[in-house]
Amino acid sequence: MTNVVIFGAPGSGKGTQSELIIKKYGLDHISTGDVLRAEIKNKTELGKIAEGYISDGKLVPDELIIDMLASVLDSKKDSKGVIFDGFPRTIPQGQALDKMLKERGTEVQVVLSLEVDDAELVDRLLKRGQISGRADDNLETIKSRLEVYHGQTSPLKQYYVEQGKLAAIKGTGTIEEIFERITKAIK
Ligand code: ATP
Ligand code: MG
Repeated sequence: MTNVVIFGAPGSGKGTQSELIIKKYGLDHISTGDVLRAEIKNKTELGKIAEGYISDGKLVPDELIIDMLASVLDSKKDSKGVIFDGFPRTIPQGQALDKMLKERGTEVQVVLSLEVDDAELVDRLLKRGQISGRADDNLETIKSRLEVYHGQTSPLKQYYVEQGKLAAIKGTGTIEEIFERITKAIK
């Protein structure tokens, strides 16, 4: 299996680039944000719990996310590989992912880290908020998401540097330019 983690702050373009990667490499996509939004829409127990965290710009607790991820992963047993989008977001999630993949006889091959500065992220997310209708794309929640990213998520970069897996990708420019950088890093 070829397993890719797409990593970056909120609004860094993880979802957009994931779609292109899937098309080119035939990987399956697991976006924890998309799974959570579907749970909320379907009013499941998990959705009811997740909703408050998401609209506050906080992370959903690790335990819930890790269990959710494990069951999604089990539904993709025959996959050629997976692109993990929005997971892991904390060190414990990173450790849990390593363990889950190891139990399945595979591992993360590369972590693509999309690098975009905060001013541009805020700008992009506010613009997206005007069309997405997402409860978390407003200025107050965006600020909280960025704080959470810098505090809890960005330390994962060092975690993957130590494993020799981190590929930093300049996340600005056109969608095609960024994708070109990604394909080079995957090779
Ligand atoms: P983008 O996809 O544009 O980079 P994003 O990363 O902010 O935006 P999503 O990945 O869709 O958005 O996540 C939305 C929210 O869902 C997060 O702010 C968080 O509350 C929750 N969430 C998603 N993935 C996780 C995770 N791995 N751990 C905890 N909470 C998560
Ligand atoms: Mg996304």
